[in-house]
Amino acid sequence: MDADHLSVRLATVADYVPMGSRLADIGTDHAYLPVNLAKRGKIAGGVAGEVVKGPFENAQHEINKEGLSDRITARLANGLQAIEADDHIDTVAIAGMGGTLIAQILTQDFDRLAGVNRLVLQPNVGEKNVRQFLMTHGFQLITEKIVTEDGHDYEILVADRADDPQQYNAEELRFGPYLLAEHNAIFMAKWRRELARTKQVLAQVQSAKEVPAAKVAELTAEIKEIEEVLQRVGA
Ligand code: SAM
Repeated sequence: MDADHLSVRLATVADYVPMGSRLADIGTDHAYLPVNLAKRGKIAGGVAGEVVKGPFENAQHEINKEGLSDRITARLANGLQAIEADDHIDTVAIAGMGGTLIAQILTQDFDRLAGVNRLVLQPNVGEKNVRQFLMTHGFQLITEKIVTEDGHDYEILVADRADDPQQYNAEELRFGPYLLAEHNAIFMAKWRRELARTKQVLAQVQSAKEVPAAKVAELTAEIKEIEEVLQRVGA
């Protein structure tokens, strides 16, 4: 992968960055996403934020190499602290991290999202934490995508600011309201795999000398929930 050839995962994130927007890509690593979007004329400019020095230097190098330093600023900063009022950021992308970390980053400096209307988020795991953040912080999911690449599944969640975002139930938070409604082949395969994995964990837990009852109850409930969804939408 490079800025001219994004992975399917990052290309899907790029698809949902609005034309002409000012983007902050938080946890940018090589800055492939903002550089790709700027080279294609899709973003007017923005910020590439990174908390670790090595990746930050990679981002800076990439931006300079492509002659984009007048449009994209690399900043060494923790999460949304990379965004300054003068940047006029209207779109934030956070990709390739756990959902808990993404929700934490967004919550920690929430005031930095003041001018932001669109969030494009790609959690590697823990997607429900991201959906929970969105519906409790004035952002409405407008679509969800699931893509598969190199044996991994990735969910991309897109949300716009809203006064009264829809409140989702536990099932929708876990499976994703849009992904659940579409239940395409990638979604079905993901949850069949997750079901098998959870059953395996339950078997291991049950074979322990002292069986932890709470864990067994939790895993059993999880299995029941996945089986119910797969039966309902797979029928
Ligand atoms: N966003 C790129 C992508 O999706 O391909 C890179 C993903 S990489 C796995 C995650 C990056 O996020 C790492 O470079 C890491 O240093 C950075 N990161 C983790 N926590 C961060 C934080 N609190 N603020 C900014 N960057 C962070």
